[in-house]
Amino acid sequence: MSCTCCGEKLNSGMIHKKDPATGQKYKSCPHCTEANGSVHVYHPYPANYGQTPARVTARNPHGNQSYCIDCRALKKGVQSSAYTRGTLCNSLV
Ligand SMILES: [Zn+2]
Ligand SMILES: [Zn+2]
Repeated sequence: MSCTCCGEKLNSGMIHKKDPATGQKYKSCPHCTEANGSVHVYHPYPANYGQTPARVTARNPHGNQSYCIDCRALKKGVQSSAYTRGTLCNSLV
């Protein structure tokens, strides 16, 4: 499945965008996006994600968390409840 806004894969947690008005950075949350089902759901980055040395790889040099803080607190298989508070793909650049 691809985002109906930007065409990138919905399960990608590596997409970074920015609010054109404030300059605030955002990153997509794949779990929130899955709950939305058609467009990427973003949260402010890095505040709503955090970083961990356990995730540092060549593609992820800062160890960025893939899921937002709210999704990481969920049990496996539980749908995101934070996606309604997220920012949708089409309002970011
Ligand atoms: Zn998108
Ligand atoms: Zn999330």
